Amino acid sequence: EELETTGDMGSQIMVFVRLRPMGKKEEETGSRTCVRIVNKKDVYLTEFASETDYLRLKRVRGRHFCFDASFPESTSQQEVYSTTTAELVEGVLRGRNGSVFCYGATGAGKTYTMLGTIENPGVMVLAIKDLFSKIRQRSFDGKHSVLLSYLEVYNETVRDLLSPGRPLVLREDKQTTVEERMSSMEGQVADLRNMIKKMLEVHNQTEASVARSGEGRSTNSEIRREEEEGIMAAGLTQYRAYSTDEVMQLLLQGNRNRTTEPTRVNETSSRSHAILQVVAEYQVKDSVNVITRLGKLSLIDLAGSERALATDLRTQRSIEGANINRSLLALSSCINALVEGKRHIPYRNSKLTQLLKDSLGGPCNTVMIANISPSNLSFNETQNTLHWADRAK
Ligand code: ADP
Ligand code: MG
Repeated sequence: EELETTGDMGSQIMVFVRLRPMGKKEEETGSRTCVRIVNKKDVYLTEFASETDYLRLKRVRGRHFCFDASFPESTSQQEVYSTTTAELVEGVLRGRNGSVFCYGATGAGKTYTMLGTIENPGVMVLAIKDLFSKIRQRSFDGKHSVLLSYLEVYNETVRDLLSPGRPLVLREDKQTTVEERMSSMEGQVADLRNMIKKMLEVHNQTEASVARSGEGRSTNSEIRREEEEGIMAAGLTQYRAYSTDEVMQLLLQGNRNRTTEPTRVNETSSRSHAILQVVAEYQVKDSVNVITRLGKLSLIDLAGSERALATDLRTQRSIEGANINRSLLALSSCINALVEGKRHIPYRNSKLTQLLKDSLGGPCNTVMIANISPSNLSFNETQNTLHWADRAK
């Protein structure tokens, strides 16, 4: 089964686990560690029934999991980036799309892993930084374009986090099988070009956004000549980035625009999926030709995976829960179908999977980072997350 899905043209899914350090609040409430990571690979989940049992080291409930790599609490942001995403960035530079997801309960460390802080930037910023430095080394003529968009899917509605306002409409998309796309890299590249073209048009219409990002116009007339097809989200702001300096600020601002709602579980529980898409284009020269390299990297900070049941069933929140689960369920179905080598991948079942259709499956790389807390207070969520990640392998 694994051999079939890791072929060169097939979809490859790597699954990682990151354990965050115990939080201050957890320490103060006397919670115990119920997760241990051994040899950067094996995850042991153990729950102790009582303090006495804990002291006797008597296991009550427990399980062992094994992933491509598992990161203990001491792991740096750079190490997480290098192990999980650096290879995908290489792929993107060769025209192979990729996506990285952070999955886990609210508070498990998804946003820290993806976005991070100014002092400790996460995967999103480190990936863009790496992309820039590699493109600069490899670009044949020194020209390149790196375009960013940052979206959220909340309650099955798509919003632009960089230019918040009206919801975005996804275009009706023709169903494409993995095989169709695998047999036609050409088609995929054209799709991307059309998308960039449309995004640039939209960008030029929104002068305010252009002013904020400094520069927004494309000089690539080739892109502009393409047919108007392949647009994923109409009205999306596309930022042209020139350096990583401003990217963190931009993303932090975008993150503040995310929809967060108080729930019983956690007051700042994030109910939305945040999607950063980075499209990179540059040219290389072999002995004869100048070749355009175009690739897209999608980095996704998923909504908290805790169950809707944990929130108020009689309010709006339960509907949100259903929709969040819908996107997460659809994502799970797509990943399971890809892992099993199925022909039909059900991308259309949710906005999230529709948006990621060209970055999930086919000639793409997919990385899953499951974030977990060490505290026994989160035992059930951690167990659910580890089971979910285990199925994605
Ligand atoms: P989530 O996005 O999954 O809800 P966060 O990323 O917001 O969770 O993490 C919850 C808290 O734990 C935050 O205060 C965050 O700074 C902290 N945290 C998470 N992971 C780490 C880590 N690896 N190292 C240090 N602090 C972390
Ligand atoms: Mg978060």
